[in-house]
Amino acid sequence: MKAIFKKEILNDPESENSTYTNFTLKRNTEFCCEKFKVFCKKFTVWSYEHGKFAIVDQITYEGQSIQPIDFCPFCGEKIDYEDENEPSKPIKKKK
Ligand SMILES: [Zn+2]
Repeated sequence: MKAIFKKEILNDPESENSTYTNFTLKRNTEFCCEKFKVFCKKFTVWSYEHGKFAIVDQITYEGQSIQPIDFCPFCGEKIDYEDENEPSKPIKKKK
């Protein structure tokens, strides 16, 4: 499946001169299987920080650590992450 995200550089509200990157998953993402789609609706599995799907790896005292995933945990299909502004496939330019 292909996960298309939008990358945004935002100002950090906590410090004046720094920015952070926020990744938003596009709503029109087509999921590889119904199970993963339902799973994503139930739980927040998209990591805005990493720009990837992520599953909770460990729950610690500080919170929880997450593990970004490259493959669907249900059907095993590879997940391709793609920036909507920078498609990975080269676009043939018309002359
Ligand atoms: Zn799947």
